[in-house]
Amino acid sequence: MNEVFLLKLGEIVLKGGNRFQFENRLKTNISRRMRPFGEFRVSIVQSTVYVEPENENCDLDGAWDACHYIFGVVSLCRCRPCDKDLDKIFETAMLYLGDDLRSVRSFKVESKRSDKRFPLTSIGISQDIGGRLAEAIPELEVDVHNPDYTVYVEVRDRAAYVHGPADPGAGGLPTGVGGRAMVLLSGGIDSPVAGYMIAKRGVELECVHFFSYPYTSELAKDKVLELARLMTRYCGRMTVNIVGFTEIQEAIRDNCPEEFFTLIMRRFMMKISERIARDHGCEALVTGENLGQVASQTMQAMAVTGAATTLPIFQPLIGMDKEEIVTIARKIGTMETSILPYEDCCTVFTPRHPKTKPTIAQVDKACEKLDFDALIERALQNTELVKVRYNG
Ligand code: ATP
Ligand code: MG
Repeated sequence: MNEVFLLKLGEIVLKGGNRFQFENRLKTNISRRMRPFGEFRVSIVQSTVYVEPENENCDLDGAWDACHYIFGVVSLCRCRPCDKDLDKIFETAMLYLGDDLRSVRSFKVESKRSDKRFPLTSIGISQDIGGRLAEAIPELEVDVHNPDYTVYVEVRDRAAYVHGPADPGAGGLPTGVGGRAMVLLSGGIDSPVAGYMIAKRGVELECVHFFSYPYTSELAKDKVLELARLMTRYCGRMTVNIVGFTEIQEAIRDNCPEEFFTLIMRRFMMKISERIARDHGCEALVTGENLGQVASQTMQAMAVTGAATTLPIFQPLIGMDKEEIVTIARKIGTMETSILPYEDCCTVFTPRHPKTKPTIAQVDKACEKLDFDALIERALQNTELVKVRYNG
C-alpha cells in the first residue's frame, strides 16, 4: 500500500457545534494545497485527516512539505498502511522504519487501537511488535522510558498504520473560519509577521501596500510582492492592492507642518485601507505596530492613527520585543527578504522631529489645507491588484 499522511487536528476538536463547519473548511483547504502535487483523497475520521495519494504520479515529498504549513493541524505523520494483522504490521515496520531503527541504540513501540475489534490491546500490540523488532535487529535495545526512537502503530478502521515520530504542524485554526482581514503590508520585518499571526487564528488575508514611485523604486514593490508570496505558504493565495501614494505624500509635504508628516500619512493609509477592506469583505485591519518602537508608535500617536477608521485594527505585535518578532520572521521565512535594503515610503518623508504626543485636534489642524476625499478617490483609482500564490 502507498504511503499516506495522517494530520491531527488541534483546537478545532473543541469547537462543539461548529466542529463540522471547521472540519469541512480544513478539508477544502488541504485539498486545495495538495492540488499542485497530484490527485489526493482527503477525508476526516475521528479528528484525524487522511491524505492519500490516488495514484503513482503524486509528488509525495512536495505534498508532505506543504502539509506542514496548513493552519488547523497540530501534528502530522507520514505512515505506511498495512492489513490489520500482526505479521503484516511487523513486516511493514521492518521495511518502512528499518533504516531509522538501525541508526539508533534504543527504541520503543507505542500503539493505539481505535478499532476495538482487533484482538490485542494497545499494550499487547506494542509488546508483540517491540519484541519482534528487538529480535530482528540484535544491536537494538528496548527502552520504554527514554528511547532514542519511537515506532508508532495505529490500528484504525480501514487499516493499520505504522510511522515514526510525528512532526509539529502549523497550529492555529483553519484559514477562513475567522473571516477576512486587510493587512497593511510594508517592506519591513513586522507587518508580514503580524499578518501571519492573524492568519493563524483562522483569518483569510488580503494585503494593501502604499507605493510612492519614484521616491520608492519598482524593486521596493517587488520586495513587498515577494513577502506576500512567502506569506501565502501559510495563509493561502492572496490579493495585494498596490496603492499609488505619491500624490498624497507630496501634498502632505507641501501643505502640512513637518512634525506631523508621518501621522497624517498614516491617517491616509487607514482611510484608504478601510475603503478597500469594506469593498472586499474584510472586517478588520492588521498592522505591524509595536509599542514604543518608533515615534509613530506611542500610545498617543496610535490613538490618532486609529481614530481615522472605524474598523478594528489588530496589532498582534504590540507587546513583543524585536527579538521575538525576528524569531517568528525567521521561522516563517520572511526575514531575509524583509532585510533587503529597499526604501519604504514612510522613510522617504520622515520628519526630523516627529510629534510623539499628538492630539487629534492638532493633527486635524495640521492637515486642514488638504482635500482628503479627492486625494483618497484618486489614490483608489490609482490602485493595482496583484494576485499572489505560493509556487515553491
Ligand atoms: P514594518 O516592519 O512592518 O515596516 P515598522 O516597524 O517599520 O513596521 P512603521 O513603518 O511605523 O513600522 O509602520 C507601521 C505599520 O504600518 C507597518 O507594520 C505596516 O502595517 C504599516 N505600513 C507602513 N508602511 C506601509 C506601506 N508603505 N504600505 C502598507 N502598510 C504600511
Ligand atoms: Mg516599516
